[in-house]
Order: sequence, then structure tokens, then C-alpha cells
Amino acid sequence: MLEIHQYLKGKTAVITGGSGVLCGEMARELGRQGMKVAILNRNVENGELVAGEIQNAGGEAIAVECDVLNEKSVERAEHLVTQRFGGCDLLINGAGGNQPNATTSNETLHPDHLLHEHVTTFFDLQVEDFQFVFNLNFLGSFIPTQRFTKTMLNRKGASVINISSMSAQVPMRKVPAYSAAKAGIENFTKWLAVYLAETGIRVNAIAPGFFLTKQNERLLLDDNGGLTQRAEKIISRTPMKRFGQPEDLLGTLLWLADEGMSGFVTGITVPVDGGFMAYTGV
Ligand code: NAD
Repeated sequence: MLEIHQYLKGKTAVITGGSGVLCGEMARELGRQGMKVAILNRNVENGELVAGEIQNAGGEAIAVECDVLNEKSVERAEHLVTQRFGGCDLLINGAGGNQPNATTSNETLHPDHLLHEHVTTFFDLQVEDFQFVFNLNFLGSFIPTQRFTKTMLNRKGASVINISSMSAQVPMRKVPAYSAAKAGIENFTKWLAVYLAETGIRVNAIAPGFFLTKQNERLLLDDNGGLTQRAEKIISRTPMKRFGQPEDLLGTLLWLADEGMSGFVTGITVPVDGGFMAYTGV
């Protein structure tokens, strides 16, 4: 069990996508640390499940309906959080993910693919599908950040944690919109860190390696629950030879959130990836 960070106790964490697999784990841990946790989710019932778990464990949490792509909805959520918890100290931009219709069927193009109706090539991708995934993963962090950091300006030790991906530095095949957006997130993390540096608000990101979750199970598991070729490839290129578990992210999360430990750290992205980014495959 991770140690309790006194610095975090009594402060407020706002987590978009906080009912998801990775951010739900973060939400429960921050609740256990004594933070007041606001889970902002499009689907409030899912948020309530996680908030309920935190409350049952003796913590303080609320679920707030929020679509991170809708400025009015984010504004309403921010008002509610301020009303209930008095403001925000830590914003985690966790809402994100890919969609099958913004994904090519194959990793590379063979001219024959153009002859098959059921094969989605780069040329078949619809702008609105590409835009949906790009917006969710980029503007879906930009909009809540713009809204919440304005309210964090006078709060000592406030910080933002964005969620990047292995696809930011070198894009994974098949997922161009997701990759472009996550590359944008790492760039934006640096930009905003510099812009806000003199206010004291730190801005960092975590880049999870490969975690087997709902969002990517169609890419990683076949119909019988076995590993797809892509999943085999991931494991063979992960020096630690396994997928991540959501709790693998928590140590990095607490370190970045705790001003007492990372008070001079801003503008970085920390990979939590079992060595994936350090390995050339050779
Ligand atoms: P998840 O699908 O379990 O969680 C995503 C959450 O975001 C869900 O609760 C969903 O309801 C919420 N959401 C989606 N659209 C929203 C919107 N418009 N407004 C508000 N909430 C919305 O996904 P996860 O695997 O826990 O991923 C969390 C983050 O981590 C994402 O940014 C994802 O891209 C990133 N990530 C995941 C992995 C992985 O292996 N799972 C790896 C690297 C990065």
C-alpha cells in the first residue's frame, strides 16, 4: 500500500473520465489519500459508482455530469465543484480514448486493400470520425484546463496532470487521430507549463504504456480472448514483458500531485511503460 501524502489531505482533485479504468483507480487512491474527489463524467451514473466506492471507504467524493467537449457543461461542472468543495487543487484530464471508426484496418497499405469494401484504409477515414477522436483527446483536455486553471491561480501547490500515450512520441499504426492528439497533449503540457510557471501552477503529464482496458481490448484480444498479433508485438517490445495494471500509475500520480515531492517539476511527461519507450526492438 502506498504511503499517505499529508500534503494532499483536504485538497480537491477533479478528474475527468474519472469512472474509466485508469482514472477510476486514480480517483480511489486520491480519495484514500484524503483528497476531496470530483469525478467528471459524461455518464454520471458511472461516476456515481466510483464516488460511492470512495465514500464507502470513508472518503469524500462527488460525481458530476460533464461532457469535456462542451464548454457550457464544463462551466456548470466547475461551478458545482466550487460550490461543493470550494475550488480545485489538482486537475487530472483523463477523459479520452480511441474509436474503431477512426482506425485503419491494416497497419500499412497494400493496393489490394482498395478493392475490399470491408477494409478501412486511410482514404476511407471520415473527417467527422477523425475529428471526434482528435477533439476528445486534445480539446477534451484543453477545455477543462482553461476553465479550471483560472480558478486555481491563487491556490498554493495547484497542478494539472494530463494523460498522454505511447503514441505521442512515435505514432502507433492504425490510430492516426489518437496519435496526433496525444502528441498535441505533450506539446500543450510544455506550452502551458511555461505559460503558468510564474503563477505556481505546475503542468505535467503521465504517458501510460500498454494497459489492457475496455478502450483497446478490440485491438489486443481476439474473439476467444487470446492475444492478437498486435498484443504479442507489444509484449515482445515491452522489456518487462507484461501489460500495465492501473495501480502501476499511482506512484507517479502521487509524486506529480504532491508539491512537497515534485514542487520544481513542470512541463514533463513521465512514461509508465515497463521500458517500452527505452527499447528499440533490437
Ligand atoms: P476508459 O475508456 O476506461 O476511460 C475513459 C473515460 O472517459 C470514461 O469514463 C468515459 O466515459 C470518459 N469520457 C469519454 N468521453 C468523454 C467526454 N466527452 N466527457 C467526459 N468524459 C468522457 O479509458 P482508460 O483506458 O482508463 O483511459 C484513460 C486515459 O488514458 C485516456 O486519455 C486514454 O487515452 C489514456 N491511455 C490509456 C491507455 C490504456 O492502455 N488503456 C494507454 C495510454 C493512455
